Amino acid sequence: MASKHFVFIRPDDCKGCGLCIDACPVSVLEFSKKLNVMGYRPAHYKGEGCTACGSCYYTCPEPGAITVIRNVEGLESAYCPHCKKEVKVIPDYRDSGTLTCIECLNPVNA
Ligand code: SF4
Ligand code: SF4
Repeated sequence: MASKHFVFIRPDDCKGCGLCIDACPVSVLEFSKKLNVMGYRPAHYKGEGCTACGSCYYTCPEPGAITVIRNVEGLESAYCPHCKKEVKVIPDYRDSGTLTCIECLNPVNA
C-alpha cells in the first residue's frame, strides 16, 4: 500500500448520508457500489491520497463509522483468507477480538 494514511469506514455502520464525502478536502471518499446490510450505499475510501486531516471523522453523525489511521505501517498484520495474503488489520471498536482487513473490509478471524 503506497499511501501512509488510511481511512476506514465500516460499511454496516454507515447511513450513506454523504457528509464525509463532501467534507473531504482532497476528494478521496466516494459512495460504494455495494449496498450495506441496511440497504444504504456506504461511503468508502478510494485507496490513495488521504492526508489524515480528520474532517470526515468530525463530520460523520454515526459514532464509530469512521476511523482515520495516521500511519498504516503501525498497524498489526494478519493473514486475510479473502485477499489470500498478509494484510494490515484493525480491531473492531466493539470487539477487539475481531480483526478487519483494511483492504477488503472483511473479518480475517471470524
Ligand atoms: S481524513 Fe481528511 S483526507 Fe482523509 S478521507 Fe478523511 S477528510 Fe479525506
Ligand atoms: S458521514 Fe458517516 S454516515 Fe455519512 S456517508 Fe460518511 S461514513 Fe457514512
